[in-house]
Amino acid sequence: MDLTLDARLAEGYRSGSQSARVLTEDWIARHMFCPRCGSDRLSHFENNRPVADFYCPVCGNQFELKSKNGIIGKKVPDGAYDTMISRIRSDSSPDFLFMGYSLSRMTVNNLTVVPKYFLHPDIIEKREPLSDSARRSGWIGCNILLDKIPIQGKIDVITDGIVSDKAAVLNKTARSGKLETKNLSSRGWLFDILRCVNAVSNSIFNLEQIYSFEETLRHNHPDNRNIRPKIRQQLQILRDKGFIEFVGNGIYRKIL
Ligand SMILES: [Zn+2]
Repeated sequence: MDLTLDARLAEGYRSGSQSARVLTEDWIARHMFCPRCGSDRLSHFENNRPVADFYCPVCGNQFELKSKNGIIGKKVPDGAYDTMISRIRSDSSPDFLFMGYSLSRMTVNNLTVVPKYFLHPDIIEKREPLSDSARRSGWIGCNILLDKIPIQGKIDVITDGIVSDKAAVLNKTARSGKLETKNLSSRGWLFDILRCVNAVSNSIFNLEQIYSFEETLRHNHPDNRNIRPKIRQQLQILRDKGFIEFVGNGIYRKIL
């Protein structure tokens, strides 16, 4: 995988954001494969399509590219808040490709796939409305909070200039698909407990360690009066999906 951006494409653009968009989209169209089915390339939608930027010509899956000069960071600004929420609620969001590139070196440094079933209203932050003086006064955008997505939903294709093996990317994407949950409330709970499991550093852990997150979970789910039974239920789901196993006596093991 050649990580170089094609500098010739930037010529003739006055706006930095426009030329960056052309450079990064060109790179994806030339080099990125479909993480869902393994197709060697992704196709670019015609301009100004409101939802997605790319689609897979084989499986039809859609992708939106968010790119940034430098490190991607924990928070990625995206479009209108209401549009994003309704896309998540109607299950019509594309998968996301988060790219960090270097304009000074003209290279792609980081690329991460987030399948759409890892999106949830809880990871979408509402921005302040644009001020009265702005051209689009009152418009409300959103941020995607990448650090709230469990690691199983952030599949690295390029990490600090190191390219992952394609087969490993396909395997991780397929495995993450086992966590797909249509119901948003169930999805929220599953990912909350998965994040708790991920936060425990050892691969072997016990129920008490997950119970220690009870207060945080209560804060996120104020209407739920049965946090501990909910934790046990979600651990069972994670076991059924092959992400942890029960060793016995309240002891669990992560399956990596
Ligand atoms: Zn595909």
